[in-house]
Amino acid sequence: MTWHILGAGSLGGLWATRLARAGLPVRLILRDRSALARYQAAGGLTLVEDGVASLHAIAAETAQGEAPIQRLLLACKAYDAEAAVAELAPRLRPDAELILLQNGLGSQQAVAASLPRARCIFASSTEGAFRESDFRVVYAGRGHTWLGQEGVTPPPQWLAELQAAGIPHQWTAAILGRLWRKLALNCAINPLTVLHDCRNGGLRDWPQEVAGLCEELALLLRAAGQAEAADDLHQEVLRVIEGTAANYSSMHQDVAHGRRTEIAYLLGHACREAQALGLELAQLQALHLRLRLYLAARGLPET
Ligand code: NAP
Repeated sequence: MTWHILGAGSLGGLWATRLARAGLPVRLILRDRSALARYQAAGGLTLVEDGVASLHAIAAETAQGEAPIQRLLLACKAYDAEAAVAELAPRLRPDAELILLQNGLGSQQAVAASLPRARCIFASSTEGAFRESDFRVVYAGRGHTWLGQEGVTPPPQWLAELQAAGIPHQWTAAILGRLWRKLALNCAINPLTVLHDCRNGGLRDWPQEVAGLCEELALLLRAAGQAEAADDLHQEVLRVIEGTAANYSSMHQDVAHGRRTEIAYLLGHACREAQALGLELAQLQALHLRLRLYLAARGLPET
């Protein structure tokens, strides 16, 4: 079974190169003909791991290819997910399996709603990778990927392929709880690092802001039926701030590089859910507004 991978960026590249070097069939789906031409000129995807670079000449095509797709790893940003899947829809088999690597929440549900017969598997990853240049991916941080379909216990058989490829993973029937917990950690840390223009450790100077947000986020998680994800949230946020004190958050890095953020699927999603649940979360709403104004002032999309 071929692994079709849409998006030859950081995570897509990390998955594609590891699957390919384990001898599994992989095909990349690139944005357009110009990306395909640049990819062919590069001779493939380069993975830099522990300082050692390896080139992988993985087959690639655009969405306009002909072959039907049974298994798709969707490795684009959350804001590109729905459009990317719509473009590929004519090639997806009715019972296709999609693995959705997007951060935050909202994009996965939109994709799943657009393909009611497909099996959509959500993923939450703590692996870290970045693009050093086009088609050159650096494996920056070892981590783990949780995969699952809410309430579905038996894992798909192809998990053995991830094992063979050395991709650390675990199947979970409670994937929404994981995604919500990660979203809450992100909401408590990332926007503040952007607004205060600081590394994660810089939030030690804003303990009350952090504590207030954690309190509201825990209320939201409980109201959304994710009580477990609310447990000890503040303590974990403080641990993350300490453990990653020297790092810039992903949202800070996006803004610093003038890149679009995934705000709509993180803080934006939290605020939309709070509103739908009839919750008044003043600090979260105020943070969202401040962040949107901050982004708009820098010419970046507010959603
Ligand atoms: P990325 O480096 O920006 O890669 C995304 C790739 O998708 C880009 O190559 C982009 O092409 C491509 N793409 C977008 N729309 C496409 C389309 N319609 N057809 C073909 N290709 C398309 O992003 P990433 O860092 O891998 O992040 C992917 C998701 O994983 C995000 O939700 C992120 O939050 C999450 N995540 C990332 C990491 C990490 O360490 N990087 C860790 C955990 C979670 P262009 O270059 O042409 O835009």
